[in-house]
Amino acid sequence: RGTVVLAATPIGNVGDASDRLKALLADADIVAAEDTRRLYDLANRLGVHVNGSVVAYHDHNERAKADGLLDRVETGATVLVVSDAGMPTINDPGMAIVRRAIERGLPVTCAPGPSAVLDALALSGLPTDRFCYEGFLPRKHAERVQHLRMLLPERRTIVFYETPHRIADSMDDLLDAFGPTRPMALCRELTKDYEEIRRGTISDIRQGVIDDPPRGEMVLVIGGASDEEAQAAAPSTLSIDDLAVL
Ligand code: SAM
Repeated sequence: RGTVVLAATPIGNVGDASDRLKALLADADIVAAEDTRRLYDLANRLGVHVNGSVVAYHDHNERAKADGLLDRVETGATVLVVSDAGMPTINDPGMAIVRRAIERGLPVTCAPGPSAVLDALALSGLPTDRFCYEGFLPRKHAERVQHLRMLLPERRTIVFYETPHRIADSMDDLLDAFGPTRPMALCRELTKDYEEIRRGTISDIRQGVIDDPPRGEMVLVIGGASDEEAQAAAPSTLSIDDLAVL
């Protein structure tokens, strides 16, 4: 039997590619890539020749393709799964093949590396001991507001992915939902030449987004609710005293 290997790829700085990633790109029997052109571009920049076959493996075909790739694993192939940037499965393809490999009892492992979530969290200056990753906020305003309200009592540091065209609207909704004073960080173009981390309150960052709209890829990191905020936001939560009465 072979193995499925998930491998992280650089999120901007090609120097972050690990030796293990390079060896896997050269040696895997099959490379399942989110975008085959980007895969060859990365391999070129790394000076690696991809010897195996390359197949497109993206959001729209990953369920359909997973079993065929796993049939090859069953007969001894190493199948490398890479996305356009960062860690596969983190808002990227990969989960379908992991699930099916587990169901079929086939080996799956990971060559870890860059991921914007952890990079931004570590640079934010906000508590990292507990955090939750929320991916992209809903696109529609009403759903976004509802989602943010649900997160109001969350005590852990919250990490979102965001896009330049929605950042202004999202900052308005964050201000409405969480108020002006929560600390946050907007982490932009991580690992790239124009990396920028803006730290401040929600109100500060919102104003900065208006005055100097951020471009490129970005991650938002929001401080968790204080005890008071958490309690005020979730009045229906039972306290220890309530439980004693019950
Ligand atoms: N799998 C990737 C990972 O592990 O980070 C995430 C893929 S998701 C489709 C792309 C989003 O990740 C971007 O819209 C942005 O929010 C975030 N991202 C990726 N690279 C980034 C970078 N260099 N700087 C800031 N954010 C980045």
